[in-house]
Amino acid sequence: MSRVTEILTGRSNGVEIPLIAGPCSAESYEQLRATVIQLKDIPNLIAVRAGVWKPRTRPGSFEGIGEYALRWISELKKETGLPFAVEVANSWQTELALKAGIDILWLGARTTVNPFYVQEISDSLRGVDVPVMVKNPIHADLGLWIGAVERLKKSGINRIVAVHRGFFTSGTSVFRNDPKWEIPVEFRTLCPDVPLMCDPSHISGKRDYIYEISQAALDLEMHGLMIESHYNPDVALSDARQQVTPAQLKEIMKALVRRADHT
Ligand code: PEP
Ligand code: MN
Repeated sequence: MSRVTEILTGRSNGVEIPLIAGPCSAESYEQLRATVIQLKDIPNLIAVRAGVWKPRTRPGSFEGIGEYALRWISELKKETGLPFAVEVANSWQTELALKAGIDILWLGARTTVNPFYVQEISDSLRGVDVPVMVKNPIHADLGLWIGAVERLKKSGINRIVAVHRGFFTSGTSVFRNDPKWEIPVEFRTLCPDVPLMCDPSHISGKRDYIYEISQAALDLEMHGLMIESHYNPDVALSDARQQVTPAQLKEIMKALVRRADHT
């Protein structure tokens, strides 16, 4: 039984490698629906991810549909019965996501890095029972990652899952973000009660590496995976190179093995 599945969805379904998958960004109702309908076939899938407000490094690129995309998610929640996860980066986004009935929230790497934003979100979650995923901060600062978890806990958020998405590198790594595996390993030692997932998509930056990074995470006994998937990645409006089709993701999940006990 997976703690991640229970914490994030309130159910336990016996899935050994819990998967959250979906597009980097919700781009249109048709794109989101086509992707979700295909992802639904993957037995590991416990929830769908979809970025609504996108934290882009440079202005001028696609910054997400915003609030309007929450309607598409509500429609698809009704149609599929699947839980949905959305990134929130401030209090008004948090409030809109909760109002739309989003099941799982997550803090992105550019939010975890800023205690003011983490505190603002934590304050708007006071008295709300919603699971929250906390990605590692963009830089390899373990204290900020743990601090974000602590701020949420102080606001009464008990269902928290950490997500390892790698760390900014100005070097020449083949990966978009350096995994620095020792940091999530230390996180787990210091926060043994917080399950840890891996996001190989943002570590890799490239779809060819998704499988090997995922397997490395499982070999470190990480509790689950968050992977970006788009029905036609080549036309994706963000993170096109790292997204896989639902069919490719299904094959990746079949090939992955759990060699160690992870509960
Ligand atoms: C994302 O999940 O699409 C995202 C923006 O991720 P990160 O915060 O890890 O960069
Ligand atoms: Mn992305």
